[in-house]
Amino acid sequence: MPVGKAARRVRLVEVRMGKEELRAVERVLRSGMLTRGEETRRFEEEFARYVGTRYAVTFMNGTVALEAALQALGVGPGDEVVVPAFTFTATANAVLRVGARPVFVDVEPDTLTMDPDSLLERITPRTRAVVPVHLYGHMADMDAIMEIALDHRLRVLEDAAQAHGASCKDSKAGSVGDAGAFSFYATKNMTMGEGGAVTTSVERVHRRLLLLRKHGEEKRYETTSLGSNLHLTEMQAAIGRIQLRRLEDYNEARRRNAAFLSQRLKGLVETPSEKPGCRHVYHQYVIRTQPGQRDRLASYLRERGVETAVHYPRPLHLHPLYRALGHVEGEAPVAEEAALRVLSLPVHPFLSREDLEYIAGGVEAFFQESHGA
Ligand SMILES: *Cc1c(COP(=O)(O)O)cnc(C)c1O
Repeated sequence: MPVGKAARRVRLVEVRMGKEELRAVERVLRSGMLTRGEETRRFEEEFARYVGTRYAVTFMNGTVALEAALQALGVGPGDEVVVPAFTFTATANAVLRVGARPVFVDVEPDTLTMDPDSLLERITPRTRAVVPVHLYGHMADMDAIMEIALDHRLRVLEDAAQAHGASCKDSKAGSVGDAGAFSFYATKNMTMGEGGAVTTSVERVHRRLLLLRKHGEEKRYETTSLGSNLHLTEMQAAIGRIQLRRLEDYNEARRRNAAFLSQRLKGLVETPSEKPGCRHVYHQYVIRTQPGQRDRLASYLRERGVETAVHYPRPLHLHPLYRALGHVEGEAPVAEEAALRVLSLPVHPFLSREDLEYIAGGVEAFFQESHGA
């Protein structure tokens, strides 16, 4: 996209790999041990310790981690799994991929995470599990969701792909439910390029995850259940170990950037909210405009060199795949309205003070020039 008269170019995502990552990958390459070795074992140990679970099992990516976690929790054909209507498509696709049926529920107006009341309404005798998503880096209302899950004997899988290091009341994302699924995709708060992990403290779930990841081999060359090859490489794990050490600094920088933007933008647009006792890690910094303003604001900022994105322009139940399964408008009104109003502004850890001024100044100028009208 040519930026013409733009005085500055601010990207939505910036990935920086330092000397430490380079050295770690070089060490692995020189060792000749390219997969299933010490780096993976140690990353899993360190990540579990960070999240606060007994175990972490790595996978090729976050989507595969979600699928494996669902299977390890016993979800399969004939089961219904409740997912929020407003999330990345992987959350629901994973449910379909393991042969179960996703049931969509609406989200809360403030955090846009799963609405526990809406969850309660859609539980049936076939409901087996619920997958709250910690959207944009803010945890879903896990107290309420866990209570409902306990009452109805549902398994709980946290989709923590956007929430490394997020917490509420001192519990970190991925440590509250029966299991948590993480992604280390290039845009996430910490990355290996591609990668994923499932965290759990349940011994039986941990054992099943290991079997699913290596062709159900209880012993070498003795397959007892159906699995696949879902490992990541030692190069990815080595990068992950360094990224994990950087995560707290990255998250703090995201929080500072978010605080700056919210200070400047409140009153002009709806800024993201953080519930008392919770730590938002701002995987995305998402504002909400009035309906009809969003796309004009996005192009105004693009002309000035500020990259933005819409997460997400369509709630899941209105994707063609899910419409074809019988879903219709009106099933999740809060999600449907959010899809028309949300806009993600840059918040990544490498923004300078000037970048932040420039982003806020762009939004302010848009409203001063009464494009908002
Ligand atoms: C990124 C993401 C995933 C999938 O992770 P991948 O590593 O890209 O497969 C799942 N759920 C949510 C909410 C995500 O943001």
